[in-house]
Amino acid sequence: MGERAKRSEKYALCHVCGSTEFSHSVLREAFEIERKHLLVKNIPAEICSRCGERIFSRETTEKVRLIVHGKTKPVKSVSMDVFAY
Ligand SMILES: [Zn+2]
Repeated sequence: MGERAKRSEKYALCHVCGSTEFSHSVLREAFEIERKHLLVKNIPAEICSRCGERIFSRETTEKVRLIVHGKTKPVKSVSMDVFAY
């Protein structure tokens, strides 16, 4: 594992199944931060073509972190119904 993590490719391999094949996609993700529910749309991600694991780049992860912690103004605000399974 440690050896592989040093590889410089952006998405060298899936950390779940070890596959090296990914397809690019954009996702929406829901977050709950301090009892506030947030939805972030259009997050770029790589999807593992074998197991479906979603992989975000470090830049993307950082940008999403800034967004959900209120550094960015939301494009719109909607009310959301929340259900428990
Ligand atoms: Zn995988």
